[in-house]
Amino acid sequence: MLDKVVIANRGEIALRILRGCKELGIKTVAIHSTIDRDLKHVLLADETICIGPASPFKSYLNIPAIISAAEITGSIAIHPGYGFLSENADFAEQVEHSGFIFIGPKSEIIRLMGDKIAAIKFMKKIGIPCLPGSNGPINIENMEQNFKIAQSIGYPVIIKASHGGGGRALKVVYDKKELKSSILFVYTEAKSNFGNGLIYMEKYLKNPRHIEIQIIADGQGNAVSLFDRDCSVQRRHQKLIEEAPAMDIHNNLRHYISEFCIKACIEIGYCGVGTFEFLYENENFFFIEMNTRIQVEHPVTEMITGIDIIKEQLYIHSGQSLSFKQKDITISGHAIECRINAENSKTLLPSNPGKITRLHVPGGFGVRWESHIYTGYSISSYYDSMIGKLICFGEDRNLSISRMRNALTELIIEGVETNIPLQLQIINNQIFQKGCVNIHFLEKTFLN
Ligand code: ADP
Repeated sequence: MLDKVVIANRGEIALRILRGCKELGIKTVAIHSTIDRDLKHVLLADETICIGPASPFKSYLNIPAIISAAEITGSIAIHPGYGFLSENADFAEQVEHSGFIFIGPKSEIIRLMGDKIAAIKFMKKIGIPCLPGSNGPINIENMEQNFKIAQSIGYPVIIKASHGGGGRALKVVYDKKELKSSILFVYTEAKSNFGNGLIYMEKYLKNPRHIEIQIIADGQGNAVSLFDRDCSVQRRHQKLIEEAPAMDIHNNLRHYISEFCIKACIEIGYCGVGTFEFLYENENFFFIEMNTRIQVEHPVTEMITGIDIIKEQLYIHSGQSLSFKQKDITISGHAIECRINAENSKTLLPSNPGKITRLHVPGGFGVRWESHIYTGYSISSYYDSMIGKLICFGEDRNLSISRMRNALTELIIEGVETNIPLQLQIINNQIFQKGCVNIHFLEKTFLN
């Protein structure tokens, strides 16, 4: 087992990783910025190192500072969490070259999957269904060819950045007239946001659901699927509610798509946890990207499978092989996660930074709260607005919904504005309750 791990993240995921390490007897090092001295996991860690000022570029994205922290503390491994450097292949490579274990797949795999054009090409080769598209990068110098590509795919199409993420640098094009300006827009966004102007085109599905498959592989020839999550409740292409399992997916189809994901993992020698993201429409799955890290929404999968995904990560990256097989994994019950963000429920803009003056956390059977906040904790404007995740489990979807309604009603956070009112509205909405909503549900129903 790993002896000492640097937690190279902050907030709820840093606390989640710390708890996993503690359970396994692994020592923890919390790195943090100057304004994060009072984060819960920093207060609980065995060792702490302040690695820079509040600006993420100078702290949580500061590669030399993080690697130095591992060196100074005699750590064995670095856990990147999600966001920040978790999918930065250069970081993973430098961690490996400095003699530490990166808790994630090999840097070359992160690099491959971080380039969506290359990832799609790889998945197609395996036989994973993908959307009709440009089959490679599009050339901004050759608009005539781009018109032909769009024509052959059929409008609407979507222009995407190959190195994109977080729902940025995406543009839907409904008509030939908008194609050129949209391509130039995404190209500029891609260059400025991701430092890479590689862009591509694919068919835009009108009413898909976002369904993803969680996998774990040990890099020793064993890979399993922990099955699906539905993450269709999104705003600005960012997830707000996730649930597992996805409703109304025939078991045969669930196993069929899972087997492809497992095949891809084995073929590539994948080691770690990962997620294959798909759009799902008319009983068809279409691969859109792979995330090579732990995801925000991993708890819903943990609740229905009983598998602690963070602990599995720690086992695998300490060199152990998977202790269970696909046949050992069963789905039981239903889980829903609501992301609790410090933002205005109507405008969805981040709320003003401030101190939590009162916090009351719900509880009871089937209720789980993953969060770093506490009364007196100050929320800053430097980082993501997500301040907690409320997860409710029940033997079926109706029960998990009613537990979520109770839990959201009990949850009190004062001092900053939160999206609890919006989450309650969604949970109480009849269309949501029926299930199988598509990616436009939230914006169409609540944000007009
Ligand atoms: P990012 O990596 O920025 O999150 P994704 O490729 O994962 O980008 O897409 C984010 C979201 O955008 C998806 O969950 C979906 O809502 C929407 N989207 C992406 N591609 C398509 C498509 N081809 N058709 C319809 N919606 C899409």
